[in-house]
Amino acid sequence: MKDSYDAIVIGSGLGGLTAANRLGRSSYRVLLAEQHSQLGGLATYFRRKSHIFDVALHGFPIGMKKSLRKYWGDDFAERIVQVKRIRFDNPQFQIETTFDMQDFTRLLRERFSVPAEQIGGFFDAIGRMNFYDDQTEVTRQLFDRFFPGRPDVWRLLMEPITYANGSSLFEPAISYGIVFGNFMSKGVYTFLGGTDLMLDMMSQALRANGVDCETECRVERVLLDRGRVAGAVINGREIGARAVISNGNLLNTIHDLVGDSQLPEAFRTGCAKVRLSNSSCQVYLGIKPGEKLEDIGDLLFTSTHPEFDSDAICSRQVTSRTYSVYYPTIRPDSERYTIVASMNARYEDWANLPQPEYRAAKQQMIEHTLAALEKYVPRIRTLIDYAEAATPRTFERYTLHRNGASFGTKFEGLQYSMDLPKAVPGLFHTGSVGIIMSGWLGSANYGVIVANEAEKYLSA
Ligand SMILES: Cc1cc2nc3c(=O)[nH]c(=O)nc-3n(C[C@H](O)[C@H](O)[C@H](O)COP(=O)(O)OP(=O)(O)OC[C@H]3O[C@@H](n4cnc5c(N)ncnc54)[C@H](O)[C@@H]3O)c2cc1C
Repeated sequence: MKDSYDAIVIGSGLGGLTAANRLGRSSYRVLLAEQHSQLGGLATYFRRKSHIFDVALHGFPIGMKKSLRKYWGDDFAERIVQVKRIRFDNPQFQIETTFDMQDFTRLLRERFSVPAEQIGGFFDAIGRMNFYDDQTEVTRQLFDRFFPGRPDVWRLLMEPITYANGSSLFEPAISYGIVFGNFMSKGVYTFLGGTDLMLDMMSQALRANGVDCETECRVERVLLDRGRVAGAVINGREIGARAVISNGNLLNTIHDLVGDSQLPEAFRTGCAKVRLSNSSCQVYLGIKPGEKLEDIGDLLFTSTHPEFDSDAICSRQVTSRTYSVYYPTIRPDSERYTIVASMNARYEDWANLPQPEYRAAKQQMIEHTLAALEKYVPRIRTLIDYAEAATPRTFERYTLHRNGASFGTKFEGLQYSMDLPKAVPGLFHTGSVGIIMSGWLGSANYGVIVANEAEKYLSA
């Protein structure tokens, strides 16, 4: 780590990584400081026994291919492959889909008997949405407009998006429409080789572009000089910089890294109303070497709840799980299988459990997941040799996101993220925020948008 840089990027989530690479490519002197021992933020992986577990590689829209090609290189884009078998199993329907507009149109028509003009009207409305549009309509009203009295259709349209970004029926409809529309263009995609390969490739690209990439480097404070960014304190050491891009949680950035007293009053008051998104739980299951899993689909959205319910989907009494099944095809040089079950969760349900109760609750979550999975893989208990659980506390610990927020802030956070440089010149924020700028695609693209703004500032 040098004594000064043009820009310090705090955090190596996909937003931070992409922003750092974009500035590095333009020959700025950049430090990427990550507090964890590993890159990737929420889009990371971990090794246990002989298994590699991907935390957030369930799927992303095809737009990621273009973004990777443009901001990382052709070798990244060529590794994007489609997730083919997406299944739903719940009390209202059992279906399989490629999760694109053509297949959804077919399903809505044939399986759900929705009139063609209603389906066309819905997709037209989604296609016309822009993030600067009127935000008074919420998703529930949008669904009510096109599919009144059809909770089964609401579930089909909403449940996967809730898993993808934690949103509910009560967020602005455009935040639903933009994310859903991204998936509908061509379906769901993944990175061939796994998250470990992608992050290795990113790390090499960053170094090739002259970015200093440092792990176990926690940024404690952003330094200001007469209201403008002057650097940051990292592991107790002052490092100079003309610009800082924070990829940490927006509220951590504002309240902890800058401090409320440094901010204009209107900005501070507005920020106080920004809500965090919810968090997640996961159960990771490693299949014994030599054992095989039958093909049960790649992405399996399951629920035993009678209808879609934004509240129930986050409950500790889990009724809804998404299973991502990783076959050897994802890492062609390996024979290994893993399953990752993901659940939406509320931080407050987990935050204050005393240690013994917390450990027991995690064990119970693993047990319930195995029991639920027996429906699809009857021999699952004899097939696994490793099981582990993550809770909102785990996500908080590894990413520092307050409340273990998995998807940044609710929609209102976007304005404060974008306006941060007006409040503190030289300070930028990127990464999951406002629902639209979350997920792999949203975070990576926001990294580029913010790096462009930082470049304008640096060259001014
Ligand atoms: C369980 C789960 C599954 C998901 N699955 C998918 C999926 O299948 N597809 C998809 O598109 N999206 C998925 N997502 C969402 C997606 O992973 C995230 O939206 C995206 O990766 C977030 O990127 P980010 O740029 O916001 O940074 P984050 O991933 O939030 O990373 C922020 C980084 O900043 C670091 N940091 C914070 N503070 C400091 C500090 N003070 N000093 C140094 N470093 C700091 C953290 O350690 C972290 O590495 C999932 C999320 C979760 C939780």
